Amino acid sequence: MGSNDSDSHNQVIVLQAGYSCRDEEDETAMRANCSCTLVRCRDGTNILVDTMTAWDGEHLRSLLAKHGVGVDEVHVVVCSHGHSDHIGCNYLFQEARMHLVGACVSHRDLYMGHFGGGQNDEELALDSNAEVVVRRSPGHTLSCVSVIVNNTQLGGRVGITGDLFERLEDIEDDSIWRDAGSENEELQRQERSKMADICNFIVPGHGTIFSITPSMRIKLRKDMTSNC
Ligand SMILES: [Zn+2]
Repeated sequence: MGSNDSDSHNQVIVLQAGYSCRDEEDETAMRANCSCTLVRCRDGTNILVDTMTAWDGEHLRSLLAKHGVGVDEVHVVVCSHGHSDHIGCNYLFQEARMHLVGACVSHRDLYMGHFGGGQNDEELALDSNAEVVVRRSPGHTLSCVSVIVNNTQLGGRVGITGDLFERLEDIEDDSIWRDAGSENEELQRQERSKMADICNFIVPGHGTIFSITPSMRIKLRKDMTSNC
C-alpha cells in the first residue's frame, strides 16, 4: 500500500476564500461570497463545506475539477447555515448521501434526526475514522454548525466555521462579525472562544484560512467575559 500524505492525513483544501465588503456604487449594499472548502478524508470521503451563491455552479464545478473531484464524487455537503451565499450550489451534489443546512440533515425528502435532541455537544462524524465531525456553533444564526477536521495535512486541527468568524481581522475588531449579523452575540462570543481553544487553524466564513495564536485565545476569552 502507498504511504503518501492522502493516506495518513485528511486534506483541507480551501477552493476559494470568501469575502465581504461594501458595494462601491450602493453604499447601503454589500458584496459577499462564502469561503468554499473541500475536505478529502483519508478514508476516501469527500466533503464540501459551503456552496457559494446559486450563480457559481460552473465555477464551483471547475474548482473541484482542478483537484480531480467531480460533483458526483462529493459524498457529504455541509452548509454552515442557511444564508443564500452558503447554500446556492447544493443542487449540484445529487449523489451526496446527505446535505446539512445548519443543523438540519437531509437526503432528498428524508429529514434525519441528527441534532434533534437537546444536547449542544452532539457531534456527527462524517468519515469512518471519526476524524471529521460536525457540531453546532450557534451565534450568527442559532442553527449554525462548524466542521472540525482532525489529523490534517496542515499539522493541526482545522475548524471550518462559517460566519462564526467573518475573517481574521474580526478577532481584533469585533464590530466586523457583529455588523455581519448575529442572532445571539453572547452565544457567538462563547462559541468563538471555544472554537479557538480547540483549533489550530480557522477557515472563516468570508476570508482566508488563518492560524490561531495563544494571544488570540486570550483575547477571545476576555471578550466572552467582559461583553455581557
Ligand atoms: Zn455568510
